[in-house]
Amino acid sequence: MIRFGTAANLPEAHLLLRLLAEAGIAARILNEHAQGATGELPFTQTWPEIWLENETDLVRADEVRRRFERAKELPLQHCSQCGEQNPGSFELCWKCGAPLP
Ligand SMILES: [Zn+2]
Repeated sequence: MIRFGTAANLPEAHLLLRLLAEAGIAARILNEHAQGATGELPFTQTWPEIWLENETDLVRADEVRRRFERAKELPLQHCSQCGEQNPGSFELCWKCGAPLP
């Protein structure tokens, strides 16, 4: 296991995890339930953390994250088939595979 980075919130963490999975990279979210916890921890330590199962995936995972960061800047698109939200850069719905407008 190697620490890959933090996400600003859980939906982002899950989206990134899904993109990593699509790229064949095994990863998991730690700290998933830390949000909302109070205590002496600095705020950033309660952010969801993404960890990679295999250190050798780090380079490819970085590429996925760059795509992910770019996609975040585009408006979300809603799939007309299933209504799921998709990142603006997607051409096919991640959930049902329908082409996006
Ligand atoms: Zn869909």
